[in-house]
Amino acid sequence: MKNDCVFCAIGAGEIPSLKIYEDDVAIAFLDINPMSRGHALVVPRRHCEGLLDADAELLSAMIGRVRKVAGIMKERLGFDGFNILQNNGEAAGQTVKHLHFHIIPRRAGEQVAFAPGKADSGELRRLQARICGE
Ligand code: AMP
Repeated sequence: MKNDCVFCAIGAGEIPSLKIYEDDVAIAFLDINPMSRGHALVVPRRHCEGLLDADAELLSAMIGRVRKVAGIMKERLGFDGFNILQNNGEAAGQTVKHLHFHIIPRRAGEQVAFAPGKADSGELRRLQARICGE
């Protein structure tokens, strides 16, 4: 765990998040500045900054988790498609220096700007409950 890393702190349960999945390798939670409804992040518990300093074993475990979480979200939220986004370096828009995969739900005909949106905390909680089957 790295000091001052917000995603390490979320993984350790020290900072609250709208969690939708967790296991021993990864945690997934709703993005607080969603690009679309249901935008979520899948994050390894172990700290690494990005794709290039993650080992192959972790990456292969992570893509399995991304697939699993996207499948659960699609089933529960019923969107039409999704984008996976993974930013490396400030020049590429990475703001949190802890490896993470964005899952961005897409609905037919809906335009998505690949820029942070405004979160409605009530709607985020309702989405969390739907994805988690509550
Ligand atoms: P990136 O630009 O790829 O580094 O993405 C980082 C994402 O993390 C952004 O979309 C932020 O909105 C999101 N984010 C930052 N802090 C939190 C948090 N505490 N809970 C949920 N999402 C967060």
